[in-house]
Amino acid sequence: MRDDLRALEGYHSPQVQVRVRLNTNESPFPPPAAWRDAFAAELSRVEWHRYPDRAAHLLREGIADLHGVLPEQVFAANGSNEVLQTLLLTYAGPGRTVATFEPTYQLHGHIARLTGATVAEGERADDFTLDMAEVSRVIADARPTVTFLCSPNNPTGLEEPESKVREVLAQVPGMLVVDEAYGQFAGWSALSLLDEDVPLVISRTFSKTWSMAGTRLGYLVAPTWVVAELDKVVLPYHLDAAKQIAGRLALTFVDEMEARVQFVVSERERLSIAMSAMPIDVFPSGANFILFRPRAVEGRAVWQRLLDRSILIRDCSGWPRLSGCLRVTIGTREENDEFLSALSEVAR
Ligand SMILES: *Cc1c(COP(=O)(O)O)cnc(C)c1O
Repeated sequence: MRDDLRALEGYHSPQVQVRVRLNTNESPFPPPAAWRDAFAAELSRVEWHRYPDRAAHLLREGIADLHGVLPEQVFAANGSNEVLQTLLLTYAGPGRTVATFEPTYQLHGHIARLTGATVAEGERADDFTLDMAEVSRVIADARPTVTFLCSPNNPTGLEEPESKVREVLAQVPGMLVVDEAYGQFAGWSALSLLDEDVPLVISRTFSKTWSMAGTRLGYLVAPTWVVAELDKVVLPYHLDAAKQIAGRLALTFVDEMEARVQFVVSERERLSIAMSAMPIDVFPSGANFILFRPRAVEGRAVWQRLLDRSILIRDCSGWPRLSGCLRVTIGTREENDEFLSALSEVAR
């Protein structure tokens, strides 16, 4: 094994059988039945002995239409994690530095290290907002070729304000990547800052809002010159025929997707208010999950007692900078009710 990888840990998120699963920020609802029917019908017509469309033309066109950009500005892959991996294989690698602002999505630093890059970890303020003095310090010291923001940020839930994203973009010596896996739940998107002359990349996924975590499909929107380089780096035929169909058809259900987003946002507000009435610090969220820190009982104990009731949430209590914190994904109304009533018992 490569020496530089020996100390790395893999991705850990327990997959256990429980009644109420609120730990990985998926949609609580399956895709619309009409999507499933259309998908099955198209699958039966696929020429399975042939390689799929290597450039995924129709899928790219559909995504481009959704965001009002050119198909040449869209790159799709097997989950936004593979999108980020391709991006980092292209723009990071040995001898280069990637900047993150912690705590944030662990995979940004992890994938960067897999490519052989050095990771410069900046610190967020105590309330998890972006500290602009720290951003300037990290960028000046590390001169990163790739700088990551995540908005809304996982696992904190906080949205980056437009003014801060603009400021970071003005300072980076290389590329700024804004991971918007939860972008649809937020009030603002960095998509509005996209421009052919601006080194800005926005990544999105079908896993969360689109109810398609099982499909493994994500994409980025970027200047055309970025996408052209990624197309050289990614493996040929990486997107199978079924996935291309799944994604293209999903894009014809925008209204259903938006209704789900509305529901999740209203449930998020209901949960935040109810949890704030308990002995719990609740962080403001623009996503489909809520980060919180119980004050009366240790976070880890709360997590275990919920699991004893067959309710699984994410235990972040042992992660750096997140001591005592837990993260709950917004579920169905019934799941949320069950979570709230169990939490009120175990957190006091
Ligand atoms: C869930 C998540 C992803 C991963 O998305 P996939 O498309 O399922 O690979 C990427 N970024 C963030 C911040 C996430 O929370």
